[in-house]
Amino acid sequence: PPSDRAELIISMTGLADIVLSTLVLAEHEGGLIKNSSLSAVEAAKSLGGDNSISLLLAGSGHSLKEAAEHAASSHPSVSQVLIADSYKFTYPLAEPWAKLVHLVQQSGGYSHIIAASGSFGKNILPRAAALLDISPITDVTKISGSNLFISADCIIRFVSPVPVPIYAGNALSTVRYTGSSPCMLSIRATSFPVASETADLKSNAASIDQVDLSTLDEDESVAKSTYVKLSAQISERPDLGNARIVVSGGRGVKSAENFKMIDKLAEKIGAAVGATRAAVDAGFVPNDLQVGQTGKIVAPELYMAFGVSGAIQHIAGMRDSKVIVAVNKDADAPIFQGAIIPQRPYIPQENTLRPNILVADYGLVGDLFDVIPELLEKLPEK
Ligand code: FAD
Repeated sequence: PPSDRAELIISMTGLADIVLSTLVLAEHEGGLIKNSSLSAVEAAKSLGGDNSISLLLAGSGHSLKEAAEHAASSHPSVSQVLIADSYKFTYPLAEPWAKLVHLVQQSGGYSHIIAASGSFGKNILPRAAALLDISPITDVTKISGSNLFISADCIIRFVSPVPVPIYAGNALSTVRYTGSSPCMLSIRATSFPVASETADLKSNAASIDQVDLSTLDEDESVAKSTYVKLSAQISERPDLGNARIVVSGGRGVKSAENFKMIDKLAEKIGAAVGATRAAVDAGFVPNDLQVGQTGKIVAPELYMAFGVSGAIQHIAGMRDSKVIVAVNKDADAPIFQGAIIPQRPYIPQENTLRPNILVADYGLVGDLFDVIPELLEKLPEK
């Protein structure tokens, strides 16, 4: 065994008999597991090895039962669904959830605990980490394999080199976890997309087990905060965080009335609507549409930005989009850095202007009040 303070890092190869086990904190709505929680399962899968993945669901009554059934058949990598059925979990409050994670970890001894980095995960993980006396790694975008870490006290811990965005997404910090077990992560759901065949899977493979809540029921300290109300926008459009296409408007759209053009375009191509903070602050749209450092993080296949200058705080929320198209009347707007500025009619050309700084892939220098009506006229129905 290593001497008192020595540490030895051994690769997974040859240690296949040591099994990873991950607890995924899952969010559900209307009897269905949210896609972001399935992304957390994808992240757990990418830890590699023989990882046994359990989903932890909490709630009460019929919707929890439905969600558990959905969870059991939601992903081929999930081997167990743990359900905590209590009135204390009717709403996802951080205090009871953190106690629940602590309780389940004590009995399950998981090597990793993972949740998606939405408001649900961000609310619960820090409290649960404090109770477990560990330090969580937040906003993980990639997991590049797992090493086993054996310390002098012979506790096996898991080390995962994971890139985490810092400085509003301008740099990625690669983190190697050397703390005690479990290793707790929040992941960016957009960085761990769920394969479509996985989402359609219907086989009922995972077992469903109840968590014994008797010790939690006696603990009255969990009732320190109470649920008041949920204020949410109800929309038929795709959810901004998971949409394939996002159409965003900035201050250049100029008014809430004009923003209806952005809505119309989104409607026509089956996109979600996003906005900059300037557009939100000016009252054009509600703040749950804000994309960026202090808004939502999106990574659609296509991101279209109209009247958006390209401030770093906005870019931080959409830079992982597969194709970015920007329309701005200012040819020097930062969003055009690195963009192919097409001629009209469009002639594809290699970008030789600023090849090293990339924001938009395609840029159109033009007035959005001309471009959007033209797009509306020329684009086919979705
Ligand atoms: P502007 O920068 O004012 O740009 C408007 C653009 O519209 C200009 O480039 C202009 O040329 C163009 N335009 C005007 N008229 C037309 C027209 N007719 N046709 C075409 N183009 C036109 N911002 C975010 O978006 N998300 C965040 O999460 C966020 N978080 C922040 C956090 C902090 C701590 C701070 C300090 C700032 C944050 N911001 C955030 C604000 C950010 O710095 C910018 O102020 C904001 O993104 C600018 O929004 P905008 O591009 O809509 O506005």
